Amino acid sequence: MSSKRLFYLPGLVLVLLSVVCLIAYSSLVRNWLDNQVQTNLTQQAQSIARSLEKEKPIATPLKLYAFIYEHGLVGSNRVSLISRDGDVLADSGINRFQLKSLPSHADRSEVLQALAEGVGVAVRRSEVLDEELMYVAVPVSYLGFDGVARVAIPLSRLENMVRELDFILAALLLVMTTLVSCLAFFTNRSIQRQIAKQQASLEHQVEHRTSEIELIQRLANMLAACNTLEEAEQVTSDVLPRLLGNVNGAVSMMRASRNQLEIKLDWGGEWPGDKTFSPDECWALRKGKHHLSYDKHTKLICPHMHSSEEVQTLCIPLIAHGNTIGLMHLYLEEEVSEEWMQLAFTVGEHLGLALANLNLQQKLREQALRDPLTGLSNRRAFEEAMSKTLMRSERYQQPMSLLMADMDHFKRFNDNFGHDAGDYVLKSLATLLIDNIRGDDIVCRIGGEEIAIILPNTSEQGAKVIAEKLLDAVRELALTFNKMSLGKLTLSIGGATFPHSGTRSTELIKLADEALYRAKHSGRDRYCSDAELEEGGVELVQPAQDSSEPVDVPKLAQSEAAN
Ligand code: GH3
Ligand code: MG
Ligand code: MG
Repeated sequence: MSSKRLFYLPGLVLVLLSVVCLIAYSSLVRNWLDNQVQTNLTQQAQSIARSLEKEKPIATPLKLYAFIYEHGLVGSNRVSLISRDGDVLADSGINRFQLKSLPSHADRSEVLQALAEGVGVAVRRSEVLDEELMYVAVPVSYLGFDGVARVAIPLSRLENMVRELDFILAALLLVMTTLVSCLAFFTNRSIQRQIAKQQASLEHQVEHRTSEIELIQRLANMLAACNTLEEAEQVTSDVLPRLLGNVNGAVSMMRASRNQLEIKLDWGGEWPGDKTFSPDECWALRKGKHHLSYDKHTKLICPHMHSSEEVQTLCIPLIAHGNTIGLMHLYLEEEVSEEWMQLAFTVGEHLGLALANLNLQQKLREQALRDPLTGLSNRRAFEEAMSKTLMRSERYQQPMSLLMADMDHFKRFNDNFGHDAGDYVLKSLATLLIDNIRGDDIVCRIGGEEIAIILPNTSEQGAKVIAEKLLDAVRELALTFNKMSLGKLTLSIGGATFPHSGTRSTELIKLADEALYRAKHSGRDRYCSDAELEEGGVELVQPAQDSSEPVDVPKLAQSEAAN
């Protein structure tokens, strides 16, 4: 059954019930009315009997007619006075002169019953008036009259009364049913409207939630695909306004020293707060949970947010792998709901994890490309940088040079001062080299104490100047380790230049290695270049001291030669 039909079912039941009630009520009313009328007629008849017995009028029709009319005993009903013999001595239904033509009433059931039992009741057709009547008779007896006083009412009058009552009841039921139906209709309509409204609101909520979940998922996926903080900033600037609305937000990251936080990415306009601040300046960090500047209980603005009283600020700690790695900060110009806050926390969780992963990735990348002892680029980074620099030199038709440097007699140095002192020297040499080259030159530790220096946009002449400068700087280096002077240090450097020495990375490395070999063999502490070799400007000499020391043939040169 359809819901519309179901809706009309209670109304139908109500109408049916009303009809049944009406029929039952009508029958009850009829019985009640019969009893009521019978009682009334009995009382009236008794009252007439009492009046007669009290006044004792002479029992002639003339006197009796006069008595019942003068004493107001008739009313609207028919009153008859009948002797025990059945003679009607007075009857308000007919005049005195018609009495003679009446038959004897001695056999009338109500008369017989009244004389026998005290009250006689009968419902029958009157032969005199030719209509249905209800009769009630009671005995009357005084000196001069012995008979019954009878009161009658036409049944048509009773029927009319019942019909009137039925009509009133039907009208009442109709009004009631209409009212109930109208009430049910309007209540139902209002409930239906409310349900539709709630359904629409629920659908909207579900739609909104679904899009939020999709956006959060997209944010997480995009952040996981980011390789740098800049990329993460692009992603957050794109996705977060759609999730959190037009709020100005930023993420600060804790430095490794854990004594300062720095804003690393921001979105939604110029960042008005501090770009760096100490952990003490943020209430969220102090509390170890989010901090809203105004709530029911507090009015505390984080000092680093520089906010006015009108703007709410929210700081959410970003936690990853159990560590607070930073904070998400938001400026809220409008009141926000609890659901919005939950959404911001979810965003914070994703951001925290993504940024921790980015940090980890960056660390791993650095570790993969950096030498841990000196902090210089390692061999892998050297190879990448070489091919990039060569490509750029080719494209822009610029020269580039490669220097291969090797500490002189470093083995002996290690033997004399210990490995730790050797490490210290390597670190100091790295710092010295970084300090003495240009910003776009690249220093790489490619072996034990072998250093390669890539010099973009540098000719043979330029390379020579730089190499000499480095040699001088090393010669002047006076290092002490554990309060012990480490003595003089020297370096041998070999150089090759693109495009003169070759155009491929392997060629340049091989030639620079050979030049270094020459520098070693021509007395160390000097610079030899591939170009000088070609000119025959370098003289090979035996090492001045410690001729038993194995001569270091740079490994690269060896491996290239093997190839
Ligand atoms: P040459 O002048 O011919 O280069 O002599 P050398 O003693 O420097 O000879 P070579 O280059 O063959 O020796 C390299 C030495 O560098 C061997 C090793 O003891 C030392 N060495 C390599 N890596 C490290 C390091 O990480 N720390 C320290 N302390 N020493 C290292
Ligand atoms: Mg060496
Ligand atoms: Mg050496």
